[in-house]
Amino acid sequence: MITFPISKCTMENQYDVTILGGGLAGLTLSLQLKQEKPDIKVLVLEKREDAAPEAAFKVGESSVELGTHYLREVLGLKDYLDTEQLPKHGLRFFLSPKHKDEIHKRVELGPKEFLPVPSHQIDRGVFENDLVKMSRDIKNDVLLDAKVENVELGDDTHQVTYKKDGESTTVNTRWVIDATGRASFLKRKLNFAEPFEHNVNAAWFRVDYKIDVDTWSDDEKWHSYVKDGLRHFSTVHLMDKGYWVWIIPLVGDRTSVGIVADESIHDFKDYNSLEKSLAWISKNEPQFGKELDKLTDKILDFKLMKHFAHASKETFSTDRWTVVGESGLFTDPFYSPGTDFISIGNTLTADLIQRDLKGEDVFYRTKFHAQVFRALYDNWMPIYVNQYPLWGSSQIMVTKIIWDWAAYWAINCLLFLNNGLTNLELMKDLVAGPTALMNRYGELSLQMQRLFKDWEAYDTADLTDKYVDPFDLKFMKTLQEDIVEKEVDDDELKRKLMENMELLEYVAAEMFRLASNSAHETSMDIPVDPYTMSLNKDRTLESKNSKELGRNRYVAKELQNMWMYPVPVES
Ligand SMILES: Cc1cc2nc3c(=O)[nH]c(=O)nc-3n(C[C@H](O)[C@H](O)[C@H](O)COP(=O)(O)OP(=O)(O)OC[C@H]3O[C@@H](n4cnc5c(N)ncnc54)[C@H](O)[C@@H]3O)c2cc1C
Repeated sequence: MITFPISKCTMENQYDVTILGGGLAGLTLSLQLKQEKPDIKVLVLEKREDAAPEAAFKVGESSVELGTHYLREVLGLKDYLDTEQLPKHGLRFFLSPKHKDEIHKRVELGPKEFLPVPSHQIDRGVFENDLVKMSRDIKNDVLLDAKVENVELGDDTHQVTYKKDGESTTVNTRWVIDATGRASFLKRKLNFAEPFEHNVNAAWFRVDYKIDVDTWSDDEKWHSYVKDGLRHFSTVHLMDKGYWVWIIPLVGDRTSVGIVADESIHDFKDYNSLEKSLAWISKNEPQFGKELDKLTDKILDFKLMKHFAHASKETFSTDRWTVVGESGLFTDPFYSPGTDFISIGNTLTADLIQRDLKGEDVFYRTKFHAQVFRALYDNWMPIYVNQYPLWGSSQIMVTKIIWDWAAYWAINCLLFLNNGLTNLELMKDLVAGPTALMNRYGELSLQMQRLFKDWEAYDTADLTDKYVDPFDLKFMKTLQEDIVEKEVDDDELKRKLMENMELLEYVAAEMFRLASNSAHETSMDIPVDPYTMSLNKDRTLESKNSKELGRNRYVAKELQNMWMYPVPVES
């Protein structure tokens, strides 16, 4: 319902798109829209009064493949990121819960070499200030100190009212995009919040000091695994049952540190202040605690967030509004998928806006995008839900992380990087066609998370002194290389996705053989149906995708590179 007469609006306050909130999601969308349609009129309303502070600003500093592709290639920020932000040396995990005071004894999973696909460690304050400048340079109207007060949705035009310098202004706009983050302006107004039962909390702070895990040990063997200086550029995860602690380097020799923990295992009350967080780290990660003891006068801020996961009953509306970034869905920061979901949400939104402005009827497309986006979230969440108890199981975590990476590169990244998600014909085929690829992918992913959970009771050995480079597994390297800025046509993309899906099925079956051999001493030659396999002998599963697989010797051989128990005897 329009409550302000259109005659009140001049051309100056008439926009094609008004973006509520100028954080990462809103500002990047403003760049994307303009790049695709230079004459589009975009308004970004951000309530922050002034430039953002460096380092001690928002959380969300580590980028991974999909989101990095969006920033570097889709938005063209490659040169900017290479010069103004830090390169990232992948994700790096330290396990072995019994050896938390000697880093060189911990099982370590992480790459030795920089990955084929680049990624970055991003200072969010620096980045958002620069994004404001970039967006203004291409003639978007980006207003700071502009607080959105009201949105009225109309049939042809929406109206947005904001307050700046004490004065309220109303603009007419064809599209409204909610990018207000956790303020979730539209979600609150239209009441479509959807709580998500994944009760994990976080606390974090930034340190004005370069924290470098490479300096924590003089052990020569440990140093020989990774070239000196490279560990520092990774997102470091120190892990044990129910939690992970992150260490992320930032430009200017600063460091971001965070605790992320499952409430059912680690009470939030034990780390919900800076003082308590430092004590919590000293208790749970003693080696890191000792390092932090020397740095207490260098701590720049402290922030926390309780129960961060949330869903949304609506994301893409046929009434020409969408919610992007954290104002819509949020999963979990493990694997840093925040920027990925921003990239996907923005790209689907931009697709709808561009087509609508050209006069295309986007009703069906909007519904389809909403379904696909939600399916991506629903397929992603089992990676985390009820999985935090496994965070201290060394072999399970190494296997799980390799699986989660493989699946992410093989399907999600490949699809996004080849513009597959906005290709309706292709997506319809993948969702509802005879191959039912997306359904198989979702089912297999869920099965694997079940396997990891069932395995928990058996992975109890004190595994130590092991270094695993995921790229020593050749198929992992190939999956990464396949997403390096190589765009392929529809047929080739479909063929590649199918091929990757088959590879994932063989990887799943072989991971099951290894787990089952170590838990139940089953033969390594058992045929395995990856859709119904179960370590829990009391559970029987049925699946339309059911298929029995024999060994794939190539996959079996490569997986030996991540196996830390004695190699099973082949019959
Ligand atoms: C513990 C934790 C760790 C994380 N780590 C990572 C990571 O390593 N990598 C990663 O990619 N992601 C990470 N994330 C996710 C990442 O932080 C978010 O995806 C990202 O910040 C969301 O950006 P956004 O633009 O949606 O929201 P925000 O950055 O919050 O921006 C929303 C903007 O809207 C403005 N606003 C709000 N209300 C109004 C209003 N009424 N009027 C005008 N403006 C308004 C706010 O001022 C704000 O600037 C992490 C998240 C958590 C919780």
